[in-house]
Amino acid sequence: MDKILGTLNGVDYTIGGTLLELSYLLAAILFVIGLKLLSHPETARRGNFYAGGGMVLAMLTTLLLHKNANGVGIQPANVWIILAAIGVGSAIGWIIARKIKMTAMPQLVSFYNATGGAASALVALLEFPNADMSNWGSVLVTLLGLIIGSVAFSGSMIAYGKLDGKVKDIRAGYMSFVNLALLVGTFGLAIFILLSGQTPAELNWAIYLLLFVSLLYGVLFVMPIGGADMPVVISLLNSFTGIAAAMAGFIYNNQAMILGGILVGAAGSILTLLMCKAMNRSLLNVIIGAFGGGGTAAAGAEGTMKEMTMSDASVLLAYSQNIVIIPGYGLAVAQAQHICHELDLLLADKGVNVRYAIHPVAGRMPGHMNVLLAEADVPYDKLVEMADINPDMPNTDVAIVIGANDVVNPAAINDPGSPIAGMPIIKAHEAKNIIVMKRGRGKGYAGIENSLFFDDKTRLLFGNAKDTLQTLVSEIKGL
Ligand code: NDP
Repeated sequence: MDKILGTLNGVDYTIGGTLLELSYLLAAILFVIGLKLLSHPETARRGNFYAGGGMVLAMLTTLLLHKNANGVGIQPANVWIILAAIGVGSAIGWIIARKIKMTAMPQLVSFYNATGGAASALVALLEFPNADMSNWGSVLVTLLGLIIGSVAFSGSMIAYGKLDGKVKDIRAGYMSFVNLALLVGTFGLAIFILLSGQTPAELNWAIYLLLFVSLLYGVLFVMPIGGADMPVVISLLNSFTGIAAAMAGFIYNNQAMILGGILVGAAGSILTLLMCKAMNRSLLNVIIGAFGGGGTAAAGAEGTMKEMTMSDASVLLAYSQNIVIIPGYGLAVAQAQHICHELDLLLADKGVNVRYAIHPVAGRMPGHMNVLLAEADVPYDKLVEMADINPDMPNTDVAIVIGANDVVNPAAINDPGSPIAGMPIIKAHEAKNIIVMKRGRGKGYAGIENSLFFDDKTRLLFGNAKDTLQTLVSEIKGL
């Protein structure tokens, strides 16, 4: 493996080194193919498999073939420690992934994101004492890895807590100033470390202070974000983890790590921009944590909710021409996707045109509804994006809102003080009739009332969505 194949520009190329670089190239190709396949629910499983395969390949070849600048490979004793850590981590990950409930998936994704950020921050922290302070570039990537990784870690842990309902939003007018000051302080400290001319040992205090302020910024920047703005933050934190991993890759000059990190960072950034666009928000506001606050009551959200009987609902649905199903987080909670698809097939058999309206932030993670409906084998051509379905809403005989709330709340359009003001919604209120399935008077994620539920055209079917749909299907079958 150490045999020199040739020399180029003064660099000796050994068999092992060349094989290692080729394996990184192959891993990179697998990452890119995996990412491409992940962009469609039908091919997503395969995409995961390819990308995971690329990662396993990169890890194995690094363990076996990596040599440091002095031509020394990883010490066998360290290889065992690394393998043991991989084994323990994989076992924990496998158990959690198998046991986790589908509704807790968004929390799990946030938690995994946090661990990625923490790993990159730890790499930076451990490598700082070995930094060559005269090499600006390498010190800079170490500091960026520490800052971004720490923010991704603490921010994602708060996001995890919020998605799980354990952490409440804390909002105060001064928070955005505190956040701005912390951000300036963090980068000021990093610049001091870069320019101080001191050794890593002398800067020990500064690096731990940097870790502390970065962690604090992560907490305080996600803390005030609530309302309908969490999806943007979650994608942003995801891109931070990727960028932090790329920085760790630069520290070790490891191409596979750099590329993997850049791909995650770039994908996360694109998702963040798409989410910002979908939610009508500016990225600057997200970074200084200035939005997401606001009122708690939606204008006009009062009156009585009018219930409907199952037999009335079944007749209305069976004799309609155009029906739009609007799924939301409650559909995931109830795990009602299969029975929902059964209702859709039953109505289609009766000649009804049934489509699903997909809001980009319905549920608790990007693409949540697509994943859920794909699990129930709903054909993709039945899923219509918000922008495409909205012009058809006035011609829709019945909009069936299943466990959705914020994404159909007209307050987003007509109440500028609302936490979801400006967010585009699926215009269920423009349909000729609206049937809403929910358990009671529970609010949506943004914690505000919804005037749609009090609309004269709206009728409520109270109960767990799965049970309600089950009864409805039986009623329609009996018609
Ligand atoms: P919401 O959270 O606004 O509303 C869910 C509704 O479902 C509630 O009205 C609840 O009412 C009802 N519900 C809950 N459980 C059941 C059940 N078992 N059966 C029937 N109904 C049920 O959901 P949306 O999908 O409309 O909106 C998503 C919200 O989450 C947005 O504010 C979005 O910004 C936010 N968010 C989205 C993320 C993403 O990436 N997609 C990430 C983080 C936050 P009741 O209790 O009365 O049943």
